[in-house]
Amino acid sequence: MKLIYSNENKLLVHNVKNILEAEGIDVFIKNEFAQGAMGEVAVFDTWPELWINDESDFERASVIVEGVNRKANAADWVCNNCQEVNDASFEVCWKCQEAES
Ligand SMILES: [Zn+2]
Repeated sequence: MKLIYSNENKLLVHNVKNILEAEGIDVFIKNEFAQGAMGEVAVFDTWPELWINDESDFERASVIVEGVNRKANAADWVCNNCQEVNDASFEVCWKCQEAES
């Protein structure tokens, strides 16, 4: 097992998990529920972590995560369908599943 990604935003961790799973990479999340127990302030130790089960997937997974991170630094986008603001790393609207246009 190997740590591949961590972020204080649980939604982003789930997003990366979905992308890696779609690529056939076996992943799981640690610390998913640790944040609530720690109160408002997110301590780095309690960030949700995304781990891969098979270390032979690590290189391929790193490339994918790198791509996601690059996108995450881009601007947020607004859904044409429901006007919800989406993080740049999301491929589809988190609310209505409409694809980014
Ligand atoms: Zn939408």
